[in-house]
Amino acid sequence: MFPRFDFLPSSPVSHDAARPLKRLYQGLFLLAIFFSQPSCTTAPLTSNPSEASAERKHTANYPIRYLLSFDDGPSIKEEFNPTLFILDHLAHNSLQPDIKAIFFVQTRASNGGGTPQGRSIMQREYHEGHLLAFHTATQGHSSHRYLNPVLFEQSLRDGIQDLVSITGTRPALVRPPFWSYDERTLDVYTKQGLQMILTDLTAIDGKIGWPNFSLRRRSNLFHQLENLRPRIMNGQMPVVDGVVPIIVTFHDPNTYTARHMEEYLQILVDIANELGLPLAEKPFYDTREDIEQAALQRTIVDAKTIVAIPDFWTSLGQDLKQMISSQRAYSTGK
Ligand SMILES: [Zn+2]
Repeated sequence: MFPRFDFLPSSPVSHDAARPLKRLYQGLFLLAIFFSQPSCTTAPLTSNPSEASAERKHTANYPIRYLLSFDDGPSIKEEFNPTLFILDHLAHNSLQPDIKAIFFVQTRASNGGGTPQGRSIMQREYHEGHLLAFHTATQGHSSHRYLNPVLFEQSLRDGIQDLVSITGTRPALVRPPFWSYDERTLDVYTKQGLQMILTDLTAIDGKIGWPNFSLRRRSNLFHQLENLRPRIMNGQMPVVDGVVPIIVTFHDPNTYTARHMEEYLQILVDIANELGLPLAEKPFYDTREDIEQAALQRTIVDAKTIVAIPDFWTSLGQDLKQMISSQRAYSTGK
């Protein structure tokens, strides 16, 4: 399994000079994986040093609890705002009241967090007890690896400052756009006091376009948890405060996700039952402090850590296009 979005060679030359060569590598890599790995829907396999230091017990004896996370928001859509709809449904639903989540926000997105409406939604997220964390602080959804390094570091400082101004405290967590990271970006995160987390399960809802629906949402999540199950049963997942946190990723700007939020919550409960994985009395996290404590046990500190993201292969082509265009837009600071 390919470890990371790490198919571009590290190069001593500038991003601009290396761009044609990088595209060639991108093309060759894509061809190679399409012929050698036609599909990959496995859940992440981590060999994580921070996990190794976490409480190690036979996790089969411990119930799981879902740690919900949302990327790319907030949305500022007016007629049907998916972020607000999700906030309402986390607070009020038939499964568990007042569920809290991590929102990996884009604080300066020109069509989201960078607007007054976006800022007020992030404030609402925080005031309702959710945890805000860093995703981007550029105008678009730029890969941290392919941003100009100076702009990358500046974007981290900007985003941290934005989040401090909303929450009063520095964010502790970052999730890299496109799940893309390397030694250099991890290093810069660390210098800025951020720790990176990825995910265990994903709704595979990050690509908003037509058709914006997921007929396989139940079977996708079932198979991802099924793949993760041996690690849970063999005691390879950290136990935090008596439960095994299972990180789930959604995208709150996705209106389909928002409209089906309650169904997704039900699916998560159902698939745990179907797979014989005991759920905690509260199947979902419900305090910011517990979420942060659990997430900090799941950080990735080594760029060599092997992680397979469930939607990695299916989204690769799209991500590649977005990465190339974001590099084009931001590598020169324009
Ligand atoms: Zn994202």
